Amino acid sequence: MGLLSGADAVLFDLDDTLLDYSTARDTGIRAWVLEVDAARHAGDAVRVWRELEEHHFRRYSAGEVSFDEQRRARLRAFWPHLSEAADDELDRAFSAYFAHTEAAWSPVPGAVETVKALAAKLPVGVLTNGNADLQARKLRVLGIPDVPLFASSELPAPKPDVRAYEAACTEMGSAPRRTVMVGDDLTNDVEGAMLAGLRAVWFNRGAACTSPAPVISDLRELLA
Ligand SMILES: [Mg+2]
Repeated sequence: MGLLSGADAVLFDLDDTLLDYSTARDTGIRAWVLEVDAARHAGDAVRVWRELEEHHFRRYSAGEVSFDEQRRARLRAFWPHLSEAADDELDRAFSAYFAHTEAAWSPVPGAVETVKALAAKLPVGVLTNGNADLQARKLRVLGIPDVPLFASSELPAPKPDVRAYEAACTEMGSAPRRTVMVGDDLTNDVEGAMLAGLRAVWFNRGAACTSPAPVISDLRELLA
């Protein structure tokens, strides 16, 4: 098993590693903007929404705001008519947007077959920054509901804090140095994992960066 030789367990990131989250998000925001304000430029809306998500989700991951609050903050900044809205109105608006993204959830090519093939041979888990209920729903949509899920809302800390990887390894019963973390985020899935003593494989979906770990562009390369 080339990249995984000597490994006792594998941890996968979820968003943009197993589930094609970025495509679903962009599809969802386009559809929602069309519904709310057809005059707004869809391309600009997608770019602005991406930036707001990145900024506010990092604040959530750093423990600065709650999961719900990072959603509300994105909406206040995104829509002038929601800039002063009450929480319940913002939550209803987010649900409307999110229904569009959820309708577009789909697997990254090769992800499901790779997880299933590996899970037949060794312990496989998912280590993800996010809300446990939401992330579990994604695994159900992917058709892999039984894969152990380690979501940051239920961990001592999110990635790239070493405690996130340690908690997952402990639950999986594998030593960090014999556990391989696979994911698309260089900070959270590669550098953080390696600092915690795990091995890592970077799933590069087209970025022009260098990685301190082996790089794959298709998850099925893990099966070689
Ligand atoms: Mg990811």
